[in-house]
Amino acid sequence: MTHSLPLQYNYSLRHLNTFGVDANAQAYLPVSSVAQLQAVRQDATLAALPRLILGGGSNILLTRDFPGLVLHMGSKGIEIVGEDAEATYVRAAAGENWHQFVLWTLAQGLGGLENLSLIPGSVGAAPIQNIGAYGIELKDRFHALTLFDFATGEQTVLDKAACSFGYRDSVFKHALCDRAVVLDVTFALPKQWQPDLRYTDVTQELAARGISQPTAPDISAAVIAIRTRKLPDPAVIGNAGSFFKNPVVSAEQRDALLQRYPQLVNYAQPDGSVKLAAGWLIDQCGWKGKSAGAAGVYQNQALVLVNRGGASGAEIAQLAAAIQADVAQRFDVQLEPEPIFL
Ligand SMILES: Cc1cc2nc3c(=O)[nH]c(=O)nc-3n(C[C@H](O)[C@H](O)[C@H](O)COP(=O)(O)OP(=O)(O)OC[C@H]3O[C@@H](n4cnc5c(N)ncnc54)[C@H](O)[C@@H]3O)c2cc1C
Repeated sequence: MTHSLPLQYNYSLRHLNTFGVDANAQAYLPVSSVAQLQAVRQDATLAALPRLILGGGSNILLTRDFPGLVLHMGSKGIEIVGEDAEATYVRAAAGENWHQFVLWTLAQGLGGLENLSLIPGSVGAAPIQNIGAYGIELKDRFHALTLFDFATGEQTVLDKAACSFGYRDSVFKHALCDRAVVLDVTFALPKQWQPDLRYTDVTQELAARGISQPTAPDISAAVIAIRTRKLPDPAVIGNAGSFFKNPVVSAEQRDALLQRYPQLVNYAQPDGSVKLAAGWLIDQCGWKGKSAGAAGVYQNQALVLVNRGGASGAEIAQLAAAIQADVAQRFDVQLEPEPIFL
């Protein structure tokens, strides 16, 4: 069976992760069809290996060589699959680039994903952590997805409820971890489009452009400009975007912290809990711009860890642990990494 699969062994993943970390996969398979996934599942040797489903590699930290099989999702295709009074339904294959997909929807005159412009990575990975930016999360536009289940060998369609989306979280990080391969995702793009301008960064950028009644492409262009200013380009300096989730604490803990740190950046949540700005906490500990070997904290945004050139994943993980320890000691708040450690 395996002779028909284009497998490669001891394969470098350096150009397949945005940290630019040098690590090898024991085995590597570019995947473009379900038949290939079935073949892997039916091959006793391949099926027994640890698996990594890989998209754009923009949310992983390779701390060592990967002792297993990397399945690199390359399936392509975008189509409008239906519409009703509320929405136009658009389906994209897992291997499509997320940002190119957003631009495609905008070019069709379909608004809804513009706030999520320029997020790196693939369509297939977007539901895994329920990507979000500038007030919108994937779940707000999600309709359904198709997955291949390595446990059963079957294809299943999941609706929004079945995906259990949360803040940078979904069922794919829990019950379906290491088992589900997302094949395609269908979005419901609203017929009655309304701009989502709850972030002042976005309104300020639009105002600077002299736009008072923005279209979806106007918002996309503003988001692209803001992100380009704020975040390092992985093609230039290795990174995985925000390295830590914003921690969620109780209102009591927020109040106690405010007594000691009146400047504490915090956002009340609808459920009564409070989100703290992880970047602010890290900055207060003096980490912004610091380096530990070739691993470092980005000088313009303390939430972003960077590879200044030649850092290993283990070095970046050590730097992350040192930051976590400082924040825990100073604020009694536990920071949780956003990328998946491998
Ligand atoms: C500069 C920069 C900015 C970023 N900004 C944001 C942001 O604003 N908001 C945000 O939410 N994220 C952001 N990220 C993180 C990242 O872009 C997203 O998490 C993105 O969805 C990851 O996509 P990927 O294809 O690169 O996933 P990968 O890194 O390849 O994989 C991530 C996880 O998803 C799993 N996975 C990938 N594809 C599939 C599939 N088809 N089926 C099942 N599992 C799969 C992998 O096994 C892994 O566990 C940023 C990253 C960078 C580098």
